[in-house]
Amino acid sequence: MNATQAKRYTDLNSHLKERFGKRVQKLTVDAGFTCPNRDGHTGTGGCIFCNEKGSGNGAHLLGTSVSEQIRQGRLALFKRYKAKLFLVYFQAYSNTYAPVERLKALYDEALAFDDVVGLAIGTRPDCVDEEKLALLDAYSKEKLVWIEYGLQSAHDTTLAAINRGHDVACFKEAMALTRKIAPEVKICAHIILGLPGETREMMLEGARLLADLGVDGIKLHLLYVVKDTPLDTLYLNGDYTCMEEDDYVETVCDFLELLPPEMVIQRLTGDPHRDELRAPQWPLKKGTTLARIQATLESRGTCQGSRYIKPEHA
Ligand code: SF4
Repeated sequence: MNATQAKRYTDLNSHLKERFGKRVQKLTVDAGFTCPNRDGHTGTGGCIFCNEKGSGNGAHLLGTSVSEQIRQGRLALFKRYKAKLFLVYFQAYSNTYAPVERLKALYDEALAFDDVVGLAIGTRPDCVDEEKLALLDAYSKEKLVWIEYGLQSAHDTTLAAINRGHDVACFKEAMALTRKIAPEVKICAHIILGLPGETREMMLEGARLLADLGVDGIKLHLLYVVKDTPLDTLYLNGDYTCMEEDDYVETVCDFLELLPPEMVIQRLTGDPHRDELRAPQWPLKKGTTLARIQATLESRGTCQGSRYIKPEHA
């Protein structure tokens, strides 16, 4: 039994090890982008769960260049995991939201390191066009390139309620354009479980949608409440209830069972910052949640893909 089978799902580390023959570690950088849902282009308030940092670590604000962040990151990751190869992850805000010349300069800066095997670029589906995807296509001939689109929900009503500023159709269009212009670029979708008003069945429709569309990878997140966000106000007023860990674990297992076995599972829960987190507290023990997901799949005797139905068009 290999590591992937042991885990009962196709995890990113095993996938990368299979491709590169050794451990590859994701190295997160903050390149100082912004977001159209904050700067007024699409909206100003941002998604209701997002704080001013937009998932960033603030390194750019401290004046640390991408190169310097990579130098510091690879030292830390070597110390912690003995990793010698890296996938540079442009995470904060929307990392294709800039003129293509600026994107090229930043991506080139990351790829200039010999031990950087590729890029992972987090963005919104309304922040790509043919020119930007052509740039990624060019990189993908030599390097591994993942583009990570935040979809978050399969329901337009939810996307409107969380002030996302795009709909499901926008995600589908971005995906189709990526496949057309940059066929070697791998597509990862982000989904949040526990969004306001969503039942488990509504969340699982996200699994069916992504399985049907054939995305290459997925990141699942729990919706947790970050202090001083619109969601925080809802929570403090009693208008939002957080998902319990039991419910989350069962929902993730259901979700995994509906996905194709080869889809790369890049994340099964989030990493809240302790000092920014209002509620719930259980996501701070990520290892416990991951172990419970594994144990639940084992007790069910199922794995990723157990209930996957291949679409007729596939
Ligand atoms: S798209 Fe991302 S960065 Fe922008 S407001 Fe939403 S979560 Fe924050």
